[in-house]
Amino acid sequence: MFGTGLLKGLGVTLKHFTDTFTDDRRKEPSRYEGSIKLDDGRRIIDQPITQEGLLTIQYPEERRLLPERFRYIPMLLWDTEIGEDRCTACGICAKVCPPQCIWIVRDSDENGKPITRPAEFYIDVAVCMSCSFCAEFCPFDAIKMNHDYELAVYDRYPQLVYDKEELTVPLEYYAALWPTQFAEEQAHRAKEKEEELRRNEEKKRAAAAKAQAKAAGVAEAGDGAAKPKRSKEELDALKAQAAAKAAAKKEGGADAGAVETGNAEAPVAEDAEAAAKRARLEELKRKAAEKAAQRKKEGGA
Ligand code: SF4
Ligand code: SF4
Repeated sequence: MFGTGLLKGLGVTLKHFTDTFTDDRRKEPSRYEGSIKLDDGRRIIDQPITQEGLLTIQYPEERRLLPERFRYIPMLLWDTEIGEDRCTACGICAKVCPPQCIWIVRDSDENGKPITRPAEFYIDVAVCMSCSFCAEFCPFDAIKMNHDYELAVYDRYPQLVYDKEELTVPLEYYAALWPTQFAEEQAHRAKEKEEELRRNEEKKRAAAAKAQAKAAGVAEAGDGAAKPKRSKEELDALKAQAAAKAAAKKEGGADAGAVETGNAEAPVAEDAEAAAKRARLEELKRKAAEKAAQRKKEGGA
């Protein structure tokens, strides 16, 4: 029949309306159970959303307790443990921000050299779409999502362009808003620190073992004391000395060689001559003896 669907839809709306009414009446005595009363008299209600009806929160006198993962606009963390901003002005958040509503100016030292700290940090919260990309991509856990959604102001500029001062909150504030995530991050950081300490210890031990092995090797080679390193001037002077010595040796070596050669050849020549002399003498002696024998023989005859 025409209009049946329409009537069914209206029936659902009516059911929610009546359920919400009876739910509110039923919950009235325990309405503020577990709620937080603020200094200005307002209350933060912590009631589960029922299946039957809708819990009516009397905003602004009452507000709902937000779940941990609720996010609105980003906030910058001031690390109270080290007493400085966690942000290093790396610019990753500005790059990944889809509507490009982050501006960062990096700080510099007295010589104009850039340093890892933001001098200025702006977020146009009227443009921010609460996507949380900046918080997800920040490598230093420096930017997180705030729960504060009551940002109504009269003017767009400059009230809705938040500067560094407006964005910065202490670490404890973040810990109170995001207790589970904060605890997980702290545990992770502690683990990383422990790992870094272990690696440093290992490096130190390896360096000590290397130095010990080197010292033992030098001692074995019989040269316990390390030779002092010569300066460049000393080395040049030594080289010049060695070159001069080599040149002198070369010059004197030619003369010395000749003397040596003469000395070596002279005895050989002397010996040959003497031997020849001796041989001739022997020959003459033999001939003289033969003649004397012949004369004796002739005289006897
Ligand atoms: S908030 Fe994080 S990502 Fe953004 S500039 Fe700072 S350190 Fe880099
Ligand atoms: S939450 Fe999203 S839109 Fe907002 S500043 Fe971060 S990255 Fe940009």
